[in-house]
Amino acid sequence: MRFETMYENLGISKEVYEAGRRVEELLVPRFCEFDKIAEYNQLKVLHAMQKNKVSEGCFQASSGYGYNDLGRDTLEKVYADVFHTESALVRPQITCGTHALALALAANLRPGDELLSPVGKPYDTLEEVIGIRPSNGSLMEYGITYRQVELLEDGYFDYPAIEKAISEKTKLVTIQRSKGYQTRPSYSVEKIGELIAFVKKIKPNVICMVDNCYGEFVEPIEPSDVGADMVVGSLIKNPGGGLAPIGGYVAGRADLIENCAYRLTSPGLGKEVGASLGVMQSFYQGFFLAPTVTASALKGAVFAANLYERLGYAVVPNGKESRHDIIQAVTLGSAEGVIAFCQGVQAAAPVDSYVTPEPWAMPGYDSDVIMAAGAFVQGSSIELSADAPVKEPYAVYFQGGLTWPSAKLGILKSLQYLVNAGVVSTEKLEKL
Ligand SMILES: *Cc1c(COP(=O)(O)O)cnc(C)c1O
Repeated sequence: MRFETMYENLGISKEVYEAGRRVEELLVPRFCEFDKIAEYNQLKVLHAMQKNKVSEGCFQASSGYGYNDLGRDTLEKVYADVFHTESALVRPQITCGTHALALALAANLRPGDELLSPVGKPYDTLEEVIGIRPSNGSLMEYGITYRQVELLEDGYFDYPAIEKAISEKTKLVTIQRSKGYQTRPSYSVEKIGELIAFVKKIKPNVICMVDNCYGEFVEPIEPSDVGADMVVGSLIKNPGGGLAPIGGYVAGRADLIENCAYRLTSPGLGKEVGASLGVMQSFYQGFFLAPTVTASALKGAVFAANLYERLGYAVVPNGKESRHDIIQAVTLGSAEGVIAFCQGVQAAAPVDSYVTPEPWAMPGYDSDVIMAAGAFVQGSSIELSADAPVKEPYAVYFQGGLTWPSAKLGILKSLQYLVNAGVVSTEKLEKL
C-alpha cells in the first residue's frame, strides 16, 4: 500500500504525513482503550436491540397521528435499556439538543420552582431557555427561577456553596457533562455521580438532569448509571451515529419522561402520537454504529491533541488526559492560525470540500467566527467540524469524525494548511 502517494493525492506533503505517522505510532495503547470501550458499548446496544426484538417492521414509516408506531415505541425501549432507565422519549419531533433540554426542563418544572446549576454557566443556548438572557417563552416568564453556583478555581464543584444554594424551592438540578465551549474540564461519569449523591443527600426528591451532549458512549457507563433521573442529548451528535438526520432524546424515570411526552405533544396525548415518518431505520442504524463512531471521534481528538501539543500549542484536554467528551480545543494563538486550521478541515471533508470558509460576523457572537463543516447532515457535530471565534486567545474547537481515517485526514490537512500559511515551519515538523 502506497499511503504516501494516497495522501499526496489529497494534498498532504511527505513531511506532514511522516509527522502524523510518528505521532500515531505512540497512540496505539490509547486507541486500544477506545476500541475496548466501543466494544463494550456495542454489546450494550446489541443486547438491547435483541431483547426488544427489533425487526424489519420497526423500520416502516408511520404517518398522521402515528398511533401504534412499533418502530418508535421499540426504539424508545432500546434507548431506555442502553441507558438503564425506566423510559425514554426518542423522536424526530425533538428538533435538536437545545430543544430536548428545554423540553425536559419545561415539562418537569412548575411556576414557583427553582432550577439550579451547580456547575456554573450552562451551554449558551440554554441561557435563553432559562431566561438568563431575557427571551420570549423562557422558563423565567413562567415564574421558574434560576440559580447557579460557580465552579472552583480548578473547574470542579464548590460543595459548601451548592449545599447553601439548595432550598425548599429547588426542584431540578441540571448538570452539563461536556465543557462545551468553556475552559472548565468535562466531567467524568464518576464525578457526576459524586455530585448527584451529594445533592440527593441534602434533598432526596430533587430531580437530577444531565446534559449528556457529546458524552454518550465515551465511557462504559452513562450518568443514568450513577443516579441521574434524566439524561438528555441530540441525535446529530454521538447517539445518532452520523445517520440520524434530526432528533433528540430524553431517557430517565418513567414519571419524568411521561411529563416530557405530554409537553412535547399535548396533555392527554403524550407518547401515543407522533408519526416517525421515514426516519426509523436511520435512528436504529445510527444508534447501532454510535459506539464505534464515537471511538473514531475520540481517536481524532487524541491524535490532534498529541500532534499539536508536540508542536508547542496549548491543547485542552492535553494529550495524556482521560476523555469525557469528544471536543478538542487547540490554541493556535493567531488569526492566521485558526483560519488555516478551519480551512484545512473543510478541505478534507467528504461534502463541500471545495469551498473555503471565511470568518464572518455571526449573530450572537462578539467577534467574527470561522466554521468548517463538510457534513452529510447540516450542523452535525459528530461529523468532523471545527469552529473558532477570531479573537484572543485564538483557540479552535473541533469535534467529530465518523471514521478514524477521515478524522485523521482532517487533522493532517489542518496541519498542512498551517504549514502552507507559514504558521508552522517544516523544521518543526521534522523534530516531531
Ligand atoms: C450541542 C450542545 C447543546 C445543544 O445542542 P444543539 O443540538 O446544538 O441544540 C447543549 N449542550 C451541550 C453541552 C452541547 O454540546
